Amino acid sequence: MQFAINISYIIAAILFVFGIKMLGSAATAVKGNRISSLGMLLAVLATLARSNLGYEWIAAGIFSGAVIGFITAKRVQMTGMPELVALFNGFGGLASLLVGWAEYEKARPDWAEYLALPENSAVPGAWFSALVIVLAILIGGITFTGSIIAYLKLSGKIGGTATVFPGQKGINVLVMLGLVAVGVLFSIDAEGVNAPTLFLVAVGLSLLIGVLGVIPIGGGDMPVVIALLNSFSGLAAAAAGFVISNTVLVVAGCLVGASGLILTVIMCKAMNRSLGNVLFGGFGAASSAGGKQVEGEMKGISVEDAYYVLEAAQSVVFVPGYGMAVAQAQHAVKELAEILERNGAEVRHAVHPVAGRMPGHMNVLLAEADVPYEQLCEMDDVNAIISTVDVAIVIGANDVVNPSAVDDESSPIYGMPIINVHQAKTVFALKRGQGAGFSGLVNTLFFLDNCRMIYGDAKATVSGLVSQFDD
Ligand code: NDP
Repeated sequence: MQFAINISYIIAAILFVFGIKMLGSAATAVKGNRISSLGMLLAVLATLARSNLGYEWIAAGIFSGAVIGFITAKRVQMTGMPELVALFNGFGGLASLLVGWAEYEKARPDWAEYLALPENSAVPGAWFSALVIVLAILIGGITFTGSIIAYLKLSGKIGGTATVFPGQKGINVLVMLGLVAVGVLFSIDAEGVNAPTLFLVAVGLSLLIGVLGVIPIGGGDMPVVIALLNSFSGLAAAAAGFVISNTVLVVAGCLVGASGLILTVIMCKAMNRSLGNVLFGGFGAASSAGGKQVEGEMKGISVEDAYYVLEAAQSVVFVPGYGMAVAQAQHAVKELAEILERNGAEVRHAVHPVAGRMPGHMNVLLAEADVPYEQLCEMDDVNAIISTVDVAIVIGANDVVNPSAVDDESSPIYGMPIINVHQAKTVFALKRGQGAGFSGLVNTLFFLDNCRMIYGDAKATVSGLVSQFDD
């Protein structure tokens, strides 16, 4: 039986690897998701086939988890997805923390026996068991509270901007060093009289670090934090896999950890921040302060007049942002894109890596509306041809098209790569009013001569444009 379980684990791990590779391209992502799910099903079945399991507890866990997950997923609005993802990361971390804690409590009555190594053990030393327990606690705890803070920020339950106070970096470093010291002391003397206290201190400090680490990060840097916490949730799962000696959990956790880290690096590039800067101080929190004073005024245009410009356009680029998610305008956007193509225009959808509120947010929405993959265009590719584009239609995007990032050194987002829609011949900016983007900054794009505002809910505006073509 053990042999069959091990083989199933290997097959599951292979399916994970192929699945995750396919997730790298929009064209194969759906298939990749299915392959990964199949791997997970196999891993779950193989784990359930192990002997001596408390099936009644497992059934209760699966049932309550499925009910809560089903209700939450049904209720969540598309705009609430990023918060939900943040919560999922957090609960992943909490699960690892609880696994580590449960294993510790289980083993505590007879640590000596728990730590005793079988003959010819491949494990490097008795301390290793204690170390992986403390790592599961530590990474899991940081992920849990860090994700809860990210959730509160993203959902607007607490302010989205950075919370900073004097001496903050010093305190963070001290707490971090304290946590490492406690972890090491526990690992080298897990049988000692002080070990239970050290263990509880490690739990407390890791929960504290999660809070302290995320509160100073605000505005533009949140995408990096989300990706990093995603990576942490994977590492926490891998540590839990070591704790309970479950190979497939180690593999799956490492895959999530590594892919999360790759995503973090992509997000850092998109925000023009180094990972070190985000991790160790600086934290680069963007605030609404700073930036040049803007002169001039935003000029509006009616849907009817915008139609005449679009009717004559040979090339059109749609630039979606968070507002498209709020308005749920993706289906109307696809309809308008089809009409424009039939009218002879070349149509592209330019997706900025941090548009929206979670990595891949816009890709998910456009895929849901069945926008053809060939029309999706990466930021660098679209920037190379943007000056030849007749009309750029900005749909509820703001920060990701703010020219201050390229031409105003005093701006907090200076240096962040943007989609250079300001270089297009004409820009239509669709938004409800004069509200700022996530960073709270004024967008100089809206004041340029080649930019016209079409005020209103993005879905209503795009549907209005569609009706103009239909008439
Ligand atoms: P922004 O948040 O900068 O701007 C969104 C705009 O949409 C607002 O200016 C708002 O203006 C408009 N809007 C809102 N509702 C509607 C509606 N119903 N119809 C039309 N317009 C609407 O969005 P971007 O996508 O440009 O930028 C993303 C920002 O979020 C970046 O700063 C990024 O760093 C940050 N972020 C990204 C994450 C990620 O992982 N992608 C995670 C966390 C943060 P108005 O109110 O006037 O309508």
